[in-house]
Amino acid sequence: MLPVVSIVGRPNVGKSTIFNRLVGSRKAIVGDQYGVTRDRHYGESFWNGRKFNVIDTGGYLPDETDIMIAGIREQVHIALEESDVILFVVDTEGGITSLDQAVAQLLRKQEKPVLLVPNKADNDERTLNATEFYALGFDKLYPVSAINGRGTGDLLDELVNLL
Ligand code: GDP
Ligand code: MG
Repeated sequence: MLPVVSIVGRPNVGKSTIFNRLVGSRKAIVGDQYGVTRDRHYGESFWNGRKFNVIDTGGYLPDETDIMIAGIREQVHIALEESDVILFVVDTEGGITSLDQAVAQLLRKQEKPVLLVPNKADNDERTLNATEFYALGFDKLYPVSAINGRGTGDLLDELVNLL
């Protein structure tokens, strides 16, 4: 069995864009689940000769904050059960939100390795702004731009070290 990496975070931070960058055309299975967590996408990726599976933890019922928080909890719990490493994605454009804080709280009180990934760090300014996410209580962060690829090499170097 290949190691499993899950991508978690609130909607619109760029989870699916990161997934597509990691997995490209090697998307294997598209799983549909009814309920709060939907459209979980599984695919294979590799870096530095290491192969791993990636899960994009997908969608939510939109617009209702309490459903959204329940959805985040379910997403994180499933991710913790099935993964070896978690990518916790946040958005340098939008800054820290209460949903980011809810996810951070769930992820801090468990043992699995978590890499905090401020996405949309498309340029130097956004990359500098990413330091605000230290407030979420993780030791290190890995700013990336899923769109232009900036920072993704450093993230993947660290990721495969943890597998
Ligand atoms: P998800 O809901 O977390 O899966 O987020 P998506 O991957 O669907 O992305 C949400 C929006 O953010 C889309 O409009 C993406 O094009 C945009 N986006 C994703 N990654 C980046 C990035 O690195 N830079 C910028 N500027 N936009 C991004
Ligand atoms: Mg998505």
